[in-house]
Amino acid sequence: MATYEYRCRQDGSFDVTLPIGTASPTVRCPRCGAPAGRLFSAARLARTPAALREAIDRAERSAERPDVVGRVPGGRPARRSTNPAHARLPRW
Ligand SMILES: [Zn+2]
Repeated sequence: MATYEYRCRQDGSFDVTLPIGTASPTVRCPRCGAPAGRLFSAARLARTPAALREAIDRAERSAERPDVVGRVPGGRPARRSTNPAHARLPRW
């Protein structure tokens, strides 16, 4: 199912949920019954919460341009061990 947006000249826009690919160019307005034309709009981006939209954008960007960070995001800064045996471990 997909949500399609239509606009009645008198009553404004409204949504109709139909199986994908079955939307007709016009439907009857649910308020006045007049023919309402289909609108072509972005796929509900405005209704996506801002934090979710930012996370999706960041994930898409990271596919080609990963963020370079100096430490683990949100984590505490790395603490040097005081165990002398750890000093012999390889560094990278
Ligand atoms: Zn109407």
